[in-house]
Amino acid sequence: MERPDRLLVVDDVSDNIHLVRAILAEENYLILEARNGQQALEMIPRELPDLILLDVMMPGMDGYEVTRRVRAMENIPFIPILLITAYDQPSAVRGLDLGADEFIRKPVEADELVARVRSLLRLKHSIAERDRIEKQRQDFVYRLTHDLRTPLVAADKMLELLQEGVLGEIPPSVKEALAVMSRSNRDLLEMVNKLLDIYRYESGSKTLNMQPIDLGELLEQVISSLHPIAFSKQIDLTVQLPPRSPVIYGDRLELMRVFNNIIGNALKFTDKGSVEVRVEVQEGETVVAVQDTGPGISPQEQKLLFQRFQQGKHHKQGSGLGLYLSHYIVSAHGGKITVQSTPGSGSCFSIHLPHAHTPSLVRNSAG
Ligand code: ADP
Repeated sequence: MERPDRLLVVDDVSDNIHLVRAILAEENYLILEARNGQQALEMIPRELPDLILLDVMMPGMDGYEVTRRVRAMENIPFIPILLITAYDQPSAVRGLDLGADEFIRKPVEADELVARVRSLLRLKHSIAERDRIEKQRQDFVYRLTHDLRTPLVAADKMLELLQEGVLGEIPPSVKEALAVMSRSNRDLLEMVNKLLDIYRYESGSKTLNMQPIDLGELLEQVISSLHPIAFSKQIDLTVQLPPRSPVIYGDRLELMRVFNNIIGNALKFTDKGSVEVRVEVQEGETVVAVQDTGPGISPQEQKLLFQRFQQGKHHKQGSGLGLYLSHYIVSAHGGKITVQSTPGSGSCFSIHLPHAHTPSLVRNSAG
């Protein structure tokens, strides 16, 4: 049997709650009660009701404030809110602006209340169904990419052995073809790895291996691995560190991916000039700014930069996943990435990392 829908009725007057119970008695709902806003806010994440019927005028915290706080709650599914307001209360629409879905005037008419509750429960169920389908789609993508990884790793190893001549001498023309195959295979493998990590970050299951990191040393390592690209494009790649290299607390490999992506992008999109990495210790945070002399990014494109599969209008290779993943990694470190850019005058991506670790999205493997 299907579980009954759960309604949370929030009202400081017990007669009003009895009235709502009486009107909805025929409907097979499970009705929970809260006598004030604070109690409701404690119950909502615990009970996850399917609908909240909320009195606007309550002593202490009013229904508007409760609405605002419910909509600010993270990690709870969408719960419709039906405001119950007095006839002479002109500002009921304010509640809609704060995130309530509907309102009804007191004294409530039985038919109207029943119809509004049914309509909001239909809304709740269709949103829950949409979320379920989206989750199924993500699970499918995850399983697919996960299964793709194994043959790609095997092919990578095999191509490497072939190129090294371990399996027998091969003519130079075949060697060239193998190098092309190997590069494509690695690009695909990198995309699969990015997709898998994005899934882990999105689902909150990514575990970070937090440790103190010498930022200067980490950046030198990233920069020396990118120097061949800078050299081949004749771009000046430099790093400026403060006299004492800052120590940050983070996941070394994950932060390396962020710097590789952002400095790598700066080199990829810049055809002449320089890429300058500057580290500044500011109040409460360390900022790594990556300034390039590339084409710059229009304000419209800047708004979309950190979205999944988002790529600008250019002919460079890429997946459009790098900044999306970098944003997740930096957020999981309690930081943020900002961009300043003017088309024609280069771009500056700044990675802000807090001095003290404030975990937000993911668990620390040590804890
Ligand atoms: P990818 O580089 O694989 O396309 P990213 O997520 O790393 O994906 O970047 C998304 C888009 O942002 C790029 O396609 C490009 O249009 C733009 N972009 C990123 N960095 C720069 C930069 N330094 N200069 C100009 N455009 C950039």
